[in-house]
Amino acid sequence: MGAPTTRGNAARMDGVLPSATVSLAQRVREDRAKGVTLFDFTVGEPHWGPPPAALAAVKAGLDRGLTRYGDARGLPALREAIATELRAKGIAAVADEVVLFPGGKQAIYMACQALLDPGDEAVIVPPCWVSYADIVRLAGGVPVEVDTVAEDRYAPREAVLRAAIGPRAKVILTNNPSNPTGAVWDPEVVAMVARVAAERDLWVLDDLVYEAFNYTGRAVPAIGALADGAGRTITVGSFSKAFAMTGFRVGYAHAPAALVSQLVKLAQQSHTCLPGFLQEGALAALKDAPGFPAEMAAHFDGLRAIVREELGDIDPGPLEGAFYAFVDITSSGMTSQAFGDYVYDVHQVAVVPGSAFGAAGEGRVRVSYAAEEGVLREGLRRLARAIREAGAR
Ligand code: PMP
Repeated sequence: MGAPTTRGNAARMDGVLPSATVSLAQRVREDRAKGVTLFDFTVGEPHWGPPPAALAAVKAGLDRGLTRYGDARGLPALREAIATELRAKGIAAVADEVVLFPGGKQAIYMACQALLDPGDEAVIVPPCWVSYADIVRLAGGVPVEVDTVAEDRYAPREAVLRAAIGPRAKVILTNNPSNPTGAVWDPEVVAMVARVAAERDLWVLDDLVYEAFNYTGRAVPAIGALADGAGRTITVGSFSKAFAMTGFRVGYAHAPAALVSQLVKLAQQSHTCLPGFLQEGALAALKDAPGFPAEMAAHFDGLRAIVREELGDIDPGPLEGAFYAFVDITSSGMTSQAFGDYVYDVHQVAVVPGSAFGAAGEGRVRVSYAAEEGVLREGLRRLARAIREAGAR
């Protein structure tokens, strides 16, 4: 074997962090394989299986020979069904403006590739999903944070938002209901963000992957459905959460036609297309199990009561949407990272430190409560005990 090359990797990669959540979930998998018992609340994934109709359609798709390359944009019937869903939300969508991607994550990744030139700024609203900042950096962009506070249920204040939008700002990323906070912005806040985006001529990347899980009784307006948002919004959706189909890797973007052509080039030049049989599964989920997301949401709604009950006087965060509690651990006197390590090592509970979601997440840990009831209760008891014990030391 010759000498290893000294050329190294692209400098761009050195500024990118591993995904805190994906890495933690991997640590849990490896420790469990060694026989360690763990209460795992790290992973953003429903504990339900996919709709049986989706599984049957995948099998039928394989039997029908849907094993070849297909349309880079996605199966026409699936794009049509997604466009129908989007129209029901008030977005003037047609099938040709919908592009399937291997997960909502890849849709966001590709949208950033399509939008950002080196040095362009993308406005994010922490505490927010771990991947936004690094996806922006991988596109050569610069994430700019609009910090929020728990007292506002993590909604951006207009003056703070406006102050963050500089001359290089190109896009703002929104996510309702929110991972990690579990908050759902009030319709007035969503309208304000859309108005500011229109005034400053920004794109909006509206991540609606948790849309099905909203317990407030108020619908979250899709920004692409608002007069200020139409024509400047990329709406991202996914089958991962709504239909418990995380491993299928089927997500999508809807965008104005001019941007769609860029997204299609990115699909053609990277993954070529999604597996046809998996798209058949997604189509069957929409067509044959339309009530599935609401049924799962009703179940998670009930799990919120367990979260409140087991945490008692410990603040679980807004608990309005998605399936995350954003639990206050400040009384422990530890940083969220130190607390996360402590509760993992000593109490066998795996949670995500709030600081992974931006500095505004310090003092909290994210708990995914999409879990079997007995596991959830015991894990939360341990978590509550850990917070109280650490605070009493
Ligand atoms: N957006 C948010 C806010 C998420 O939490 C996730 C997954 N954790 C995604 C997008 C992407 O999900 P997927 O790629 O599985 O569709």
